[in-house]
Amino acid sequence: MQNSEIKTTCSYCGVGCGIIVTKDSNNGISVKGDKDHPVNRGMLCSKGMNLHYVANDVSDRILYPEMRWSKSHPLERVNWDEALDRAAAVFASIIKKHGPDSVGFYVSGQCLTEEYYLVNKLVKGFLKTNNIDTNSRLCMSSAVVGYKKTFGEDSVPISYDDIELADTFLITGANPAWCHPILFRRIEQHKEKNPKTKIIVVDPRKTDSALTADLHLQILPGSDIYLYHAIAKCLIDKGYIDNDFIINHTENYAAYKNMVVGTSLEKASQLCGIPISEIKQAAEIIAKAKGFISMWAMGLNQSAIGVDKNTALLNLSLITGHVGKPGSGPFSLTGQPNAMGGREVGGMANLLAVHKELANPEHRQEVADFWGVDSISEKPGLTATEMFDALESGKMKAVWIICTNPLVSMPDVRRVEKALANAKFVVVQDISHKSDTAKYADLLLPAAGWLEKEGTMTNSERRISYLPKGINPPGEALSDIEILIRFAKKMNFNGFNYNSAEDIYKEYCALTKNTKIDISFLNYTRLKNEGTFQWPVPDYGHPGTARLFTDKKFYTPSQKAIFNLPTSIDNTSEQPTDKHPFILTTGRIRDQWHTMTKTGKVSRLLSHIPSPTLEINPIDAFKTGIEDGNIVVVSSENGEVRVKAKVTDTIKEGVVFLPMHWGKQLDNDLNRANNLTNTVVDPISKEPDFKFTTVAVVKYEKP
Ligand code: SF4
Repeated sequence: MQNSEIKTTCSYCGVGCGIIVTKDSNNGISVKGDKDHPVNRGMLCSKGMNLHYVANDVSDRILYPEMRWSKSHPLERVNWDEALDRAAAVFASIIKKHGPDSVGFYVSGQCLTEEYYLVNKLVKGFLKTNNIDTNSRLCMSSAVVGYKKTFGEDSVPISYDDIELADTFLITGANPAWCHPILFRRIEQHKEKNPKTKIIVVDPRKTDSALTADLHLQILPGSDIYLYHAIAKCLIDKGYIDNDFIINHTENYAAYKNMVVGTSLEKASQLCGIPISEIKQAAEIIAKAKGFISMWAMGLNQSAIGVDKNTALLNLSLITGHVGKPGSGPFSLTGQPNAMGGREVGGMANLLAVHKELANPEHRQEVADFWGVDSISEKPGLTATEMFDALESGKMKAVWIICTNPLVSMPDVRRVEKALANAKFVVVQDISHKSDTAKYADLLLPAAGWLEKEGTMTNSERRISYLPKGINPPGEALSDIEILIRFAKKMNFNGFNYNSAEDIYKEYCALTKNTKIDISFLNYTRLKNEGTFQWPVPDYGHPGTARLFTDKKFYTPSQKAIFNLPTSIDNTSEQPTDKHPFILTTGRIRDQWHTMTKTGKVSRLLSHIPSPTLEINPIDAFKTGIEDGNIVVVSSENGEVRVKAKVTDTIKEGVVFLPMHWGKQLDNDLNRANNLTNTVVDPISKEPDFKFTTVAVVKYEKP
């Protein structure tokens, strides 16, 4: 029998690389980069090129539904009918007794668009609560609000193809060399061919991205807005601004100018820990740019002032007029493969599908009418952290967790442990027993994984890809949509008579008609035959939209982009004290992804960095008597971690870094960075402040 090939998309980061999967006669698979794919042109990073190990190895997979009859009983194998009968009975009973807001769903940016749409319809339309949020809340919700406030809608204006048209990059709060490697490779290749291309990196750490930069601004965490304002002041003072763009296409410039020209460069320099000369140098580079792209990720978003950081950065594109033209624009990077798709279908507690707003009564009624239900509750749903708080306090009784591992990824995870222990009923729908969260399940449902189901995803540049089903899921695992449809039917809900993922996709597409994200003419056939498309695709022959705002008309009522002023320039995170003098920032490493339930299975990916280490500056190490390789105790108000120290001048003095991937292993949870992190969130986006927790670091002494 001949090998067969399937074209699909990588299931890790939001870059969205095309992959060719080769399936042999024994159903084993191998992967290679798709040379014809517009994103990666055949390249794959270490994670993508090892995806076949993850798909071939089913040793950790959940193979059949498992249920415990009470909290004191172990999980026992049951069949699907028993499992979903119980789920329906418990959810119906809790809702009857405590109301719809006593239940909630916590989902993931790894869900396919069809799954994301369906679970939102189920929860907001039929369970009558808006308690559905996503782990994308933890990574990009500040960017969503930033775009809305600036452009009128959540709209990433540019494409990866703009990389090759730009001559200046400001990469801030991101380490794409490790976290979006193929995207960064395109920037490197562009610079190799065009050596005059300038890269500025803003980061407290000398990351691999920073090492390739022409200018690395090694900023102190939390001071970003001071830096952007200082750069803006330099540009305005020297007249390096686009007056025509500002006058004709923006609002509120006078107030913005008034604020930033008053910025003291001395104060900004001191707070940011960056010499004035380097701030001026950054402004000079941006001033000379013909094509200017700003790129950012968690370093901005995961902050107590994440939305303000986003709008302050977006303002730099507005004053220089670098929006809506080739090689120019702001570009937030998504960490998950379908975080963007989730935004499109309203996969957050405060959103509705097709970028409609839950707070808008007309929008609620439009979506309710479309779904054939009377109404959608006007009460905002609980966001990710709020949901676990509500479980801990007992306000919420039941949670259904799909494709995410909050026991490792949420801030202050010990609270999440308490919350799940306190919940009356926890459903975990996932692929792997290795998820720490699975241990808290009262009902464990085996889901199909990558390549085992079909659907669509949208990457960071609004590019929609079709992912075919290539292999059967192991055991009795079902696709997420099949599980949700069966549950909806057990609840006697009408409106879930779908025969395929394509049926759901068609319904969602119909809802997009005449909206800013119109894909009503983009069907599965086109996606299968013609490849990927960037939304909107508002006609049958339409090739997709590479760049938004080329007509300089924005989605605000005035059609002008808006200069937003920050509600707080100063960082509102908890501040260092004598007890906790260091700022802990957490993040990702090159070869691991999220909570390691997939990449942790691949031994060659563990060889890069096999265990978590605390990066600490040599001056701080000297002051605290710590030597490279010592075991150190890192403690915060919330908890403790015990790991090896890595003494390195790649990190700024006063700042320490821990990777976020490791969870509870061999019953030792002292690897887990989120034992430490605080519960502060941005007041608007509700995104946690993962980049700023104050901690103490001491050498571990055996008792
Ligand atoms: Fe996958 Fe991202 Fe690597 Fe591309 S860059 S192969 S999408 S993990």
